[in-house]
Amino acid sequence: MTRVRQHQTQDELLVFERSSPGKVGYQLPALDVPAADPVEVLGKERVRESIDGFPEVSEVEVVRHFTRLSTWNYAIDLGLYPLGSCTMKYNPRLNEAVARIEGIVDAHPYQPESMAQGLLRIQRTLETYLADIAGMDAVTLQPAAGAHGELTGLLMIRSYLESQGSPRRVVLIPDSAHGTNPATAAIAGYETREIPSNREGMIDLAALRLAADDSVAALMVTNPNTVGIFERDIAAVADILHRQGALLYVDGANMNALVGIARPGDFGADVMHLNLHKTFSTPHGGGGPGAGPVAVKAHLESFLPVPRIREEAGGLRYDWDRPKSIGRVRAFYGNFGVLVRALAYILAHGGDGLRNATVDAVLNASYIRRGLEDDYDLPYNAPSMHECIFSDARQAKYGVKTGDIAKRLIDHGFHPYTVSFPLIVRGALMIEPTETESKQELDEFIEAMRAIAREVEADPRLVRSAPVTTRTNRVDETLAARKPVLTWRGTPE
Ligand SMILES: *Cc1c(COP(=O)(O)O)cnc(C)c1O
Repeated sequence: MTRVRQHQTQDELLVFERSSPGKVGYQLPALDVPAADPVEVLGKERVRESIDGFPEVSEVEVVRHFTRLSTWNYAIDLGLYPLGSCTMKYNPRLNEAVARIEGIVDAHPYQPESMAQGLLRIQRTLETYLADIAGMDAVTLQPAAGAHGELTGLLMIRSYLESQGSPRRVVLIPDSAHGTNPATAAIAGYETREIPSNREGMIDLAALRLAADDSVAALMVTNPNTVGIFERDIAAVADILHRQGALLYVDGANMNALVGIARPGDFGADVMHLNLHKTFSTPHGGGGPGAGPVAVKAHLESFLPVPRIREEAGGLRYDWDRPKSIGRVRAFYGNFGVLVRALAYILAHGGDGLRNATVDAVLNASYIRRGLEDDYDLPYNAPSMHECIFSDARQAKYGVKTGDIAKRLIDHGFHPYTVSFPLIVRGALMIEPTETESKQELDEFIEAMRAIAREVEADPRLVRSAPVTTRTNRVDETLAARKPVLTWRGTPE
């Protein structure tokens, strides 16, 4: 092993196991009024019955329990988090400071517009910047995540095509696509048709020409695609679709490779979403709030969700009177705190800074690719953009799979990369370092990955049984997801 990078030192009991009857974590002053019976005062239906087995612990036990648990987490604040496709970049603390400014953190969605002008201005400014970055004409900030943005975009495409008198039924999806793309198309009521990739890992234009008939509403494409390769023929792709009256939906989750360098609006996108929680550095993961703003070209603007923000003589206003709008996609005004952080990030960087971040993201991925190409199989030889994809072909000869290598990486002190995605690469290792990592951190990661490659040759059984330094070894991930055990007494059937 290269160097011990253990962040996990303390074992911890379940909070139920710390319980002892009668312990409490609070202290109230003695009553100076007669005690009342809660059932009499509130009514039986409002009073909870005591919970059998509810843990009884002191304040310090609660604090220590959760603090210890928090030290088990691997987090971007601890080290490189190379999950491909997820853009786990460091989130600058400045964004947090801005999001906590009093007038922002205490804002209420029912605040009258006249008292929310600053908040409206934040949204309007962010819309304008995102439109500029994407090369598009208008933006809605409301969708709560990338997949939600996809759905919003496809609903707009449906409304637009209906308004043209040509509702269509098929959405084309390259075989390298992120799983949310076909899922979104199905939820939006479309049939999906898969477009194969060519040997270079890009959309096969001949196959696209064949598939793009007048039943096709749109193609959903990620660029750079999920194998980390820029779709060089994207303008031709857009052209093939537009000739058939179909639209180009760009999944902008990989904008970390493009910001300040290339704009989807310039290479033919009609609709796209951005993942603020990826590209624009807002905390991400664990199912927390994200934001998936959707940007459109002018021909789709009237279909954007309500409310829109309108500039008027007296200030900014929410405009609900949009007869062609697909309607509301979210309660209130989106995940506002995420929007604030993204705007802070954009303003702190400025145009040059954002462009530098992109260049560094691509440089870092290329550095890792170069560092690992002697030890791991590279399925595609095109230049890497912001992420690089290897396969486990060499290690599979020793009976070691991508999932085993990923688990072994935990023993070496790193969060695993993305395993077995994209699906078109058998045994994929998908690595995305992002721009926020130093050369030293990248070198340590490369060294760990190379050490694992040597371990595979010397002792494949060790790698197959990893992780060996963690509290639990391998869990049944399917069972854990389907039948989570949430209390100490529960046992899965
Ligand atoms: C992350 C991602 C999505 C989905 O975004 P969420 O915000 O997780 O819903 C879609 N497409 C690609 C390529 C992604 O990487």
